[in-house]
Amino acid sequence: MTTRRATTSADTSPPSTPATSAPWAVLQEHVRGDVLLPAAPGYDEARALWNAMIDKRPAAIVRCTGVADVLATLRFARERDIPLAVRAGGHNVAGTALRDDGLVLDLSRMKGIRVDPVARTVRLQPGILNGDLDHETQAFGLAVTSGIASTTGLSGLTLGGGIGWLMRAFGLTCDNLRAADVVTADGAFITASEEEHPDLFWALRGGGGNFGVVTSFTFDLHPLGPTVLAGAILYPASAAGEVLRFYRDYIEGVPNALGTIVLLRYAPEVPWIPAAHWRQPVVAILACYAGDIAAGAEVLRPLKAFGSPIADIIEPKPYTLHQRMFDASAPPGLRYYWKSHYLGGLSDDAIDTLLARAWRTSSLRSYTIIGRMGGAVGRVDASATAFAHRDAQHVLNINGVWTEPAEDEVHVEWTRDLFTAMEPFSTGGVYVNFLGNEGEDRVRAAYGANYDRLVEVKRRYDPDNVFNSNQNIVPG
Ligand SMILES: Cc1cc2nc3c(=O)[nH]c(=O)nc-3n(C[C@H](O)[C@H](O)[C@H](O)COP(=O)(O)OP(=O)(O)OC[C@H]3O[C@@H](n4cnc5c(N)ncnc54)[C@H](O)[C@@H]3O)c2cc1C
Repeated sequence: MTTRRATTSADTSPPSTPATSAPWAVLQEHVRGDVLLPAAPGYDEARALWNAMIDKRPAAIVRCTGVADVLATLRFARERDIPLAVRAGGHNVAGTALRDDGLVLDLSRMKGIRVDPVARTVRLQPGILNGDLDHETQAFGLAVTSGIASTTGLSGLTLGGGIGWLMRAFGLTCDNLRAADVVTADGAFITASEEEHPDLFWALRGGGGNFGVVTSFTFDLHPLGPTVLAGAILYPASAAGEVLRFYRDYIEGVPNALGTIVLLRYAPEVPWIPAAHWRQPVVAILACYAGDIAAGAEVLRPLKAFGSPIADIIEPKPYTLHQRMFDASAPPGLRYYWKSHYLGGLSDDAIDTLLARAWRTSSLRSYTIIGRMGGAVGRVDASATAFAHRDAQHVLNINGVWTEPAEDEVHVEWTRDLFTAMEPFSTGGVYVNFLGNEGEDRVRAAYGANYDRLVEVKRRYDPDNVFNSNQNIVPG
């Protein structure tokens, strides 16, 4: 095995042996990936998360190359009582992938993936992003539900549930999980599935990163595309009331193959929107039909015929292209603040409340999305996996987005104001992957009715709460 010294530009001492060296050099002797210390080249890049509001300085970041690095790093941290964080895609808005003065197990370089087109499964390492997954699976005309931005880590997404265009047809991402390899807090390497460690397997599907480091995921795949009928239809904000009332009734009659999202924002300066509407408030209905194009055209006909849209780009296109549609709206390095509710429905009151505040933001980058849940998500029993909120009709996510730190307060305030106004229409639950640093009550709301059972599994697999940089389930 090649060994390297822990990289730090400040460290000019000669290479040392594990017996005599400083602790981090000992770790570097045992892992193949870089152990990045503050001031090392690459340290700042490695501690940059998608959300620029997060500015944490870990004591060291270990860029793991495989399971052996994960095992060695975990052992090292536990022997010295060094607090840990686990990072995969780095997209979590709360910034739990890093911790100040702790040790970060960075899995982002672990990008192995293999599709089995005969068995219709895919096995992948935790550094895989949605876009990587789609690229490999679509080569075989296969897919599994993943998120709506290609740059989100599939790892964190799956552990929290995994919602996306295909969920009404194929279930949540975690519903398609067949097995996972896990390094547990005591350093064991085990496989969790319906047959092996079923309690852990249950908890991994919605319980977040509380139970160990997942080093491999195996999913079932479904035939899809590679061309799908998908895109966006856009209306001026002045028509938003009628559009949302029409939408509410329209979606009641559509098959589960149709995934839809409502988006309220200021129109971006893109060629497919007429220039007169750029920077103006708009409402968009986004859609993706997971099935035959001609059948999809029939289903989407009433939507495409409704009102006087500004633009309509719901058309046949590669699924992988549709999966990148949202990327430009949520680039890394901006300041983000999110607040989210599950909604029971879209009553007239809920629509009016939403529309009264959605465009009050002074940032043209801020937006609000309302994704339709249900379908295959709701067919799974709420206690069958750790993901509890199977009865939610919609997921509302209010996204404050801006660039200047001096403006933090005003954009956080807009987000909170809309969130508070929408509280009467909430089911009381929240999607764990959309949660910020919001306190224990909100963490409990995220795990809902499954919280107590999650505590039991946590006690079994992580009684010392080694994995606590997450929406934490405290073992008690
Ligand atoms: C632009 C954008 C779009 C999004 N769209 C969607 C969407 O469409 N659907 C959806 O469901 N979610 C979506 N999300 C939310 C997303 O699911 C969460 O942010 C998720 O945590 C991202 O996973 P990650 O691996 O990138 O996160 P990271 O920040 O790297 O990790 C978050 C946490 O997950 C845990 N974790 C990650 N990997 C592992 C592992 N292998 N083992 C153990 N613990 C682990 C750790 O506790 C870690 O702190 C989106 C987020 C963004 C920023």
